[in-house]
Amino acid sequence: MLSYLTAICIIVKALRMQSELLLVLLLSVCVGSSPLSKKKAYNKLLLISFDGFRWDYDQDVDTPNLDKLVKEGVKAKYINPPAITMTSPSHFTTITGRWIEDHGVVHNIMFNDTTGSRVPHKATLKRSEWWDNGALPLWITAQNQGLRTASFFYPGGGVNYSGQAVNRFLVEDQGSPDDNETEWRQNIDTVMGWFAKEDFDFVTLYYGEPDNVGHSKGPETEERRKVIQQIDRTIGYLRDSMYKSGLTDHLNVILTSDHGMTTIKKAEDVKEIILGDYVNLLKLTRFDLLDYGGFGMITPREGKQQDVYDALKNAHPNLRVYKKEEIPDNFHIKKHARIQPIVLLADLGFNINSRLVLDINKGDHGFSNEEMDMKMFFRAFGPDFKQNFLAEPFDSVSIYPLMCELLGVVPEANNGSFGDTKAMLIGKLLIKKQQNPYCVF
Ligand SMILES: [Zn+2]
Repeated sequence: MLSYLTAICIIVKALRMQSELLLVLLLSVCVGSSPLSKKKAYNKLLLISFDGFRWDYDQDVDTPNLDKLVKEGVKAKYINPPAITMTSPSHFTTITGRWIEDHGVVHNIMFNDTTGSRVPHKATLKRSEWWDNGALPLWITAQNQGLRTASFFYPGGGVNYSGQAVNRFLVEDQGSPDDNETEWRQNIDTVMGWFAKEDFDFVTLYYGEPDNVGHSKGPETEERRKVIQQIDRTIGYLRDSMYKSGLTDHLNVILTSDHGMTTIKKAEDVKEIILGDYVNLLKLTRFDLLDYGGFGMITPREGKQQDVYDALKNAHPNLRVYKKEEIPDNFHIKKHARIQPIVLLADLGFNINSRLVLDINKGDHGFSNEEMDMKMFFRAFGPDFKQNFLAEPFDSVSIYPLMCELLGVVPEANNGSFGDTKAMLIGKLLIKKQQNPYCVF
């Protein structure tokens, strides 16, 4: 028969063994910092970009699914694109958290101002030398920390960074249709399969609309409103697919865009900007990026910079002309070598034409990111987001630190601020993040 003392000793010993065992278990999870443990601790993340979705496009058309998301998720009043309001520069700011002068993707067109070569936008999507300038996009950083990532048509997702490719990527073909609703749904099915069946952690999905319709028909048209309704149905389809795939409680979703769109002012109403009327481009310049909306760059011939500048500075009342060194710091573009010696920015709605008005677009972008028509759309929902939360406007550069928080990824150096988006998240994730990000506790 055991004495009381012996019984107490056995109990104490057992408790100590238990606590030691617990300690060993705790250490093995924390110190091990295995990717597997992190994958289980954080929810998955889907970033969807609808190209050219202006912040207010849901306000003049019936959008039941987006309206539902206002109640069931987060809406930002609008968000600010980077200063060059173009597709590739803005998408790369979102995925790197860097300003354009730090990531170097300064235009949709890949160019060489020495040889004069230009690569059109869709062809740049496979050219690493255009994108890989030292700023690591989130796909690669997340992969280096043990997560699986994929890109479905997202600009910059189809190239190598320091020799590393995104685990899985699809690049948009030249001329592939942008508004085929059946295809849009198939793309969602594919992405749901990646998450549910192949355990991907982070996927970016890109749609070319409503940018195309905004350019071809104009932003204030019935055709644009119809595309917004198509996007709304697609979001409804996404939520149904998430539910059917068992992802509703495990997948956070951010819906955003890259810039807005504005109606282009035409000659009947205004005096259009045609640079050839003011400066002899052939004689004074050796390269230019003009005829791409409201933003342009010029490379003067040797010794001709002042002549070009003087000729254009007060040429047109709706044209701003900067020498590279005069570009305001808060544009965050002037430090990069790819920014040419003279930069042009037109007032909202005025396209910058070189010699003739070739641009037949009814809508365009590329204008100042301070213009409301250039502001971007932002919504988010999922297990880590609050419901019925209206966020104040913020810079799109801050989407990156938000995505890192959601995934438990230690961010690269970036220009964003988690403070901009922190209030959107429920407390559980924030408590988790106060711990070592490599530790599940
Ligand atoms: Zn775009």
